Amino acid sequence: MITDLHSHTVFSDGKLTPQALIDRALERRISRLAITDHDTTDALAVARAHIADNQLPLELVPGVEISCQWGAREVHVVGLWVDEHCPALQALLAQQKQRRQERAIEIGRRLEKAKIPGALEGARRHAGNAAITRAHFAQFLVEQGKAKTLGAVFKKYLSRGNTGYVPPNWVALPQAIAVIHQAGGKAVLAHPGRYQLSSKWLRKLVGEFAEAGGDAMEVAQCQQPQNERRFLADLAAEQGLKASQGSDFHFPSPFAELGRNLYLPAGALPVWE
Ligand code: AMP
Ligand code: MN
Ligand code: MN
Ligand code: MN
Repeated sequence: MITDLHSHTVFSDGKLTPQALIDRALERRISRLAITDHDTTDALAVARAHIADNQLPLELVPGVEISCQWGAREVHVVGLWVDEHCPALQALLAQQKQRRQERAIEIGRRLEKAKIPGALEGARRHAGNAAITRAHFAQFLVEQGKAKTLGAVFKKYLSRGNTGYVPPNWVALPQAIAVIHQAGGKAVLAHPGRYQLSSKWLRKLVGEFAEAGGDAMEVAQCQQPQNERRFLADLAAEQGLKASQGSDFHFPSPFAELGRNLYLPAGALPVWE
């Protein structure tokens, strides 16, 4: 019985179709899986049909990962058990996708100025019909030989302070939480350890997230050491938040795998119970 509450498909920047993701989850003995694509719920219907058609023993948790603005920073909020037919949710996601398109055009322009032509078209080709992300630009740049790995290309071109970085303009954090609630879901602060915040700022973020009605935060990912899980679980408990766990799986790699190493520290309250 493994629960994994954070994963991506080809409908955002993941590499697997919803069907392949589900098959892989079952091979890895996962019994509860949330699909949480960036700013889209388009994978959910496909996933549900695959489970029903093949009578698969998997509980699908309908989810979405919303990119949010927190002051000048960007943080991610995962919505779990959302009703994807909620008009307020779809209106928000439509706006986010529009902003993704506008940002992509601007990223393309900046790279063009830096003598890297064709990046917008290249990223669009990698995205297909998916919500376009910086990961699609990264794939194009690796293909062009601009750096060897996605990580290196982010460091050189796409992260804050670099040529191809465009400050985002996402929905405000409290508004994303409110819309997730309108859609009947639980709002979970995603990967709080990845925002490069000092512990003072991390506390401030978690406090404001809880204040705005947030329900839980992720305390366990695949490669996270026990002491960090403990620290995050205690921080969550302090703020009255429940605990979540998820691989943030995008594609098979040595670093992240569906369901791997997902467990909560003793005493943490699981968001799924
Ligand atoms: P976006 O939401 O369009 O800003 O795209 C961000 C996505 O790019 C994230 O969801 C990750 O999947 C991916 N990403 C961000 N930073 C890195 C990195 N350093 N290496 C590889 N992928 C990254
Ligand atoms: Mn991603
Ligand atoms: Mn994220
Ligand atoms: Mn994610």
